Amino acid sequence: MPYLPESMPFPVPPLDARRFWDYCAERRLMFQACADCGQLRHPPTPVCPACRSGAETWIDAPAVGEVYSYTVVHHSSHESVAGALPYNVVLITFPGMAGVRLVSNLVDVAPGELAIGIAVELAWEPAGDGLWLPRFKRKR
Ligand SMILES: [Zn+2]
Repeated sequence: MPYLPESMPFPVPPLDARRFWDYCAERRLMFQACADCGQLRHPPTPVCPACRSGAETWIDAPAVGEVYSYTVVHHSSHESVAGALPYNVVLITFPGMAGVRLVSNLVDVAPGELAIGIAVELAWEPAGDGLWLPRFKRKR
């Protein structure tokens, strides 16, 4: 069962993020990095903010991370998620990937059990049309 309803509309990814979502469709969590100075960046951008290079490369993220921050949503912003309240939105960081913070959801933790620093692991969730969402669960 998906964490949030499949009827929730999916935004059209901006052109710069297309490759990120193409990798997700292959169930590969990859982040963009500058091919010249190595600066990681997410969301993807066409130019490196550190050295202004347009050269990019993509790096595999570890399948584990931790909760950097979180919030619990109690009021729906769209009718499709009204039945899923309350749900969490988390910011995930990854070891060795300074500067990358991924917005996601923690699928197996009740709102009152959320905490900064919880160790998590990747839990791919199908979202239809070949799309996979990088969600997370508590690391076992
Ligand atoms: Zn750079």
